[in-house]
Amino acid sequence: MYPKIDLTVKYDGPSADFASFTGSPLWGYGVDGVVERAAGQGWRVARRERLKTPYGLSPLVVHFITPKGRDVLWIPSYGEVVGEDSLYHLNFEKSFWVLWQAGVKVMLVGGTSGIADWRQGEEAIRPGDVVLPWSFWTRPVHRGLPGTPFESMWSKSHFLLGQPFCPELQGIMEAKLTPFVESDQIRGVRPPADTRVALVVPESITFETDFDILHWLAVAKTASDLQPDLPTVATLHGDCMNPLLARYLGIHVLYYHMVSNYAQGAEQEHNIRGTIHHLYTKVFPEIALSLELDLLSTLEIPDGSDCVCTSSLTEAPPVFSQSLTQPE
Ligand SMILES: [Zn+2]
Repeated sequence: MYPKIDLTVKYDGPSADFASFTGSPLWGYGVDGVVERAAGQGWRVARRERLKTPYGLSPLVVHFITPKGRDVLWIPSYGEVVGEDSLYHLNFEKSFWVLWQAGVKVMLVGGTSGIADWRQGEEAIRPGDVVLPWSFWTRPVHRGLPGTPFESMWSKSHFLLGQPFCPELQGIMEAKLTPFVESDQIRGVRPPADTRVALVVPESITFETDFDILHWLAVAKTASDLQPDLPTVATLHGDCMNPLLARYLGIHVLYYHMVSNYAQGAEQEHNIRGTIHHLYTKVFPEIALSLELDLLSTLEIPDGSDCVCTSSLTEAPPVFSQSLTQPE
């Protein structure tokens, strides 16, 4: 069933260059806990409400003003809404329509995930590492914005997905994470130059099966063997918001993943349930919120010279669209 689109809706929300779409690293606090802690550091909440979009009511949008007067939007938890089936990810359209209308240029996304790394030993990625991902697995829910210039139409434009996560922002994040490694709060930082990690979202409502993970281990091992001169390939299993829409809209995305567990069956002795709740409630939120309040206050908008976030979109010749059935 496709939702009804109301193109008469006008945006009446805030404008901001910076936004966060972070989810599970902050789940230990809840929305109120994040807002309270930000307020404790001098962040003011200007608005906190769900906004009208052509696709229905948006997820919660929190409009913060930082102590130095910067506007920042936070859409909690990848835009997921209790009572709305997140598997279909209709929240992506609503959220990105808001980000587009708000004029967001830089977006932080923090996730938690299970690691499937075919390597053994010290070089393998493990729970406690923070990954700055290299790529991701595309999915049908990674669509455009229907009814807008950014709808899912090859005839209008195309864009490339090399370096989907802004390398300039990754470099800044890597430096910001170093003190947490030195104080043993996280195990290590794994940027693409260390390991090429791809984000994979389970196609179901829970963890993968043993076969699912074996499948990805085989893919990653083969891919690594095919390109022995490049960093090893591994997969992270958890969230991956719509990087296509971010690229389509020219948003620089800083994605970071806190590794909470080994993926299903990847380590026979590993007890997933025994570790993740502790990490989610006691370890990740403090680190993630500290980093985000810092980064969202201080980051500058990349000028595009060291990334392709804003330069990979190519409009198609109008004759391509003239070759399709025209609207009534
Ligand atoms: Zn960029």
